[in-house]
Amino acid sequence: MPDTLPLSRGMELIDRLSVDHELELGEYEGLVASFCPELASYAAGRACEARRSVYGDDVFIRGLIEIGSYCRNDCLYCGLRRSNRGAERYRLSREEILACCEEGYRLGFRTFVLQGGEDAAFTDEVVCDIVASIKEAHPDCAVTLSLGERSRESYRALFDAGADRYLLRHETADRAHYAQLHPAGLSWERRMACLRELSDIGYQVGCGFMVGSPHQTSATLARDLKLVEGFRPAMCGIGPFIPHHATPFAHEPAGSAELTCYLLSLLRLIDPGLLLPATTALGTLDARGHERGMLAGANVVMPNLSPITVRRKYELYDNKACAGSEAAEGLAELSRRMEAIGYHVVVDRGDVRRRATE
Ligand code: SAH
Repeated sequence: MPDTLPLSRGMELIDRLSVDHELELGEYEGLVASFCPELASYAAGRACEARRSVYGDDVFIRGLIEIGSYCRNDCLYCGLRRSNRGAERYRLSREEILACCEEGYRLGFRTFVLQGGEDAAFTDEVVCDIVASIKEAHPDCAVTLSLGERSRESYRALFDAGADRYLLRHETADRAHYAQLHPAGLSWERRMACLRELSDIGYQVGCGFMVGSPHQTSATLARDLKLVEGFRPAMCGIGPFIPHHATPFAHEPAGSAELTCYLLSLLRLIDPGLLLPATTALGTLDARGHERGMLAGANVVMPNLSPITVRRKYELYDNKACAGSEAAEGLAELSRRMEAIGYHVVVDRGDVRRRATE
């Protein structure tokens, strides 16, 4: 554990990050280890300026459709892990998914995110057909997939079918930490290779990590920040770890909303154009999570657009929020809450904005 920095030194590093958009690994570690309310609020102020320079006060929304809860994997943190025999499993049909998009379009969504466990039933043929059908019905919308690790050929086929974006959280940029969160069959190298493949194919790629996952340290978080600095994803999804009762991490403490917000600010300073969601996990841990996320530098919210009957079954962690402003039908509430803090939910695909030189 590095020594915490004097507040003035922390602020100096944050100023430098705002201008250079990069720091040494050890400097990131110092900033993470020195997290305190004063430094967080300083970073948040800087982060909001950076976000405003690229995205103004717009909040992008994405309709999140949780297409299935079957999963072949056994990630130690996740309630959908295959060893969780108590989990209720479901799989949406093509027609159900298209109906969600129909409803979402009516509500003002112009991006649909199809997320699910790694389920062999979602073959390339099945998913390509779904993606092509969504693009045909809504050519002005973006389709994002978040279906875990697949082969390069599969990623290519889904891209050719019309998928625009892919979310695959790297979970942790530290190889040893990755091994503490996943079973032996899953490797950090493979995860990283997937992210590179997705980006080579041409997807707008989202990576991301949990905050407060078991065995996480300031040093592993510093590596997460350094990874985002180097990899330059279009999006980075972060949210606090929240324990699920039927996993090996059932009794681990949850991550903190405050540290999550501080990291959102640092990520915004690393890349002012980064798409940064105020995630469901943040909204679950803190009733004002969406507001707090925005005020720390986030600019995206992904309300739940899954059929209400299955929402409870996509249980990544205990008490996962899926109502109110967390739900697509609660969009008016989300808009109101954003307006109250000076932000505006917009009807827009919400593509990443890059500086002209990139
Ligand atoms: N199977 C897909 C989607 C996974 S769910 C994939 O592998 O990408 C989306 C994200 O939820 C995961 O990447 C993980 O970071 C997060 N998540 C899973 N369990 C969690 C928990 N207990 N607390 C907080 N976030 C969790």
